[in-house]
Amino acid sequence: MKPAGETFDVAVIGGGSAGLAAAVTAARKGARTVLIERHGCLGGMGTASLVHTFCGLYLLRDEPGAVLANPGFASEMAERMTAATGLGPVRMGRVDVLPQHPVEFVRIADELVSAEENIELLLHTEVISLSRDTDWQIQLASRGGLRIVTARSLVDASGDAIVAGLFGGGAEMTAAPKLQRPAYVFGIHAPVTLDDQARLATAGSIVEGIRGGNLPDSVLGLAFRASGRPGEIFGTLDLAGGETLESYDPLDPACLGKLELHGRLTASKAIAWLAAKSDLWKGAYISHWPVRAGVRESRRWIGEATLTGTDLLTGRRFPDEIALATWPMEFRENTRGPKLRFPKENKPAGIPLGCLKPAGIERLFTAGRCISTDHDAQASIRVMGTCFATGEAAGNAVAI
Ligand SMILES: Cc1cc2nc3c(=O)[nH]c(=O)nc-3n(C[C@H](O)[C@H](O)[C@H](O)COP(=O)(O)OP(=O)(O)OC[C@H]3O[C@@H](n4cnc5c(N)ncnc54)[C@H](O)[C@@H]3O)c2cc1C
Repeated sequence: MKPAGETFDVAVIGGGSAGLAAAVTAARKGARTVLIERHGCLGGMGTASLVHTFCGLYLLRDEPGAVLANPGFASEMAERMTAATGLGPVRMGRVDVLPQHPVEFVRIADELVSAEENIELLLHTEVISLSRDTDWQIQLASRGGLRIVTARSLVDASGDAIVAGLFGGGAEMTAAPKLQRPAYVFGIHAPVTLDDQARLATAGSIVEGIRGGNLPDSVLGLAFRASGRPGEIFGTLDLAGGETLESYDPLDPACLGKLELHGRLTASKAIAWLAAKSDLWKGAYISHWPVRAGVRESRRWIGEATLTGTDLLTGRRFPDEIALATWPMEFRENTRGPKLRFPKENKPAGIPLGCLKPAGIERLFTAGRCISTDHDAQASIRVMGTCFATGEAAGNAVAI
């Protein structure tokens, strides 16, 4: 197939937190940029999977008072989200987080790309193969058929290191039993105020449902958080990802299909049970499903540098660092809730530019949750605050 004719300076694959940051940054630097996203909106996990908190925006501190860790795009997103929701940072134990609403995230992303004349946005478009001579030839599939666009430089912000799958290059994925578990996030309309008493009573109702054989054990992985809008709650159902921890494969569509069905059926049973059995939840119903289940970890690039869990724990700094990783390593290797590991003395670690540079492939950068790290460090850098920062750095690198 012949190229469509147009050559872009930069192509960004994936319009999640990282891809949005990369495309907007490259365009602001004057690069003609094509942003390719298979869904109908930008934001990735933060919109399509209803993940509703920005983590990794702030430094770790014992004292109260949130301090932004990375200037630039991450800070701009924090400011825009606060303006949209009216909500500022919230202290949760030892960390500060910013509640974000997926509806506002979609709108903010729309405004950001609409403001950039240098961005050509291709929604409903999937990258299905890649080749290169001097420039990258990117084959796209959409409802209209197949098309090729050409770009001098490429950013893989697909979350799954899709370029490694389609073109080749060094990538790895943690073995299934240890892989971070997926989760199904959904919207609920309910009049309940989630104070400690309500949470205790809700847990009691769920345990009663499981003991009586009315709910599956997997409902134990369900947690609730108020969205900040009256009557709106997000449910997050942590899942094993398959019948066993071993059978989870986030790159296998058959496995993902079962995951989506299991998430919806389990969530439906849980909310129907609560609405019927608990006075607190009377009248509750599921108000929206995500476009797709949330995947925390899949394939990662092997880059010129690889950030490790030890680097995170010791707060290692690098001469060529492009951003700070401030979120504790958040392990979700089972469905029994998070296990957090904090760095000594709250020190942030630097992320070197080499983590964004897949080894041995010219004019390719990566950003977001699939940058070059080990499994432990990915448990920190995958959060959206850090994805904004690595996306911005990739955008700067390719726009030069
Ligand atoms: C259940 C869950 C809870 C989480 N909780 C939090 C939290 O509280 N706070 C936090 O900050 N982070 C949280 N995270 C992590 C965070 O949401 C993600 O790691 C982050 O959003 C990843 O951003 P990304 O841009 O790297 O990838 P993604 O958001 O996955 O975006 C990748 C984009 O690429 C697109 N794409 C992929 N392949 C192609 C292709 N071939 N062609 C075109 N488009 C393609 C996808 O459609 C997607 O939009 C959570 C994650 C999960 C799953």
